[in-house]
Amino acid sequence: MNTGTFSPLIWKKHKRRGWDNTCPHCGKPIKWIYDGVYWLPCDTEPILFRMHPEGKSTVIYKRAELINCIIYSEQDKKGDGVPLTGHRQHYYTCHVLKARRREYIEKKRRI
Ligand SMILES: [Zn+2]
Repeated sequence: MNTGTFSPLIWKKHKRRGWDNTCPHCGKPIKWIYDGVYWLPCDTEPILFRMHPEGKSTVIYKRAELINCIIYSEQDKKGDGVPLTGHRQHYYTCHVLKARRREYIEKKRRI
């Protein structure tokens, strides 16, 4: 398999809405959210998060606002207040794309 020329079919943002409601890489269902300019392929399952300016994750909240956040989990209860519900871009959660990105980084390191 030639991973060097791999071009993902799912990105953070798309100019046009995809016609597929499943990820072409991993087959998981996708929810397309329009932010007024772009179409964002997201996970259908909402997640809990907390807003945080230094949060390393981004989540789509309310009117397709992209905000920095910390993904809420039972183990990691950083921040105060009640966690909010939002959607994550599938680009960040797709296990196929994640593996590809890891491979790519590993490859670069070896050169
Ligand atoms: Zn996927």
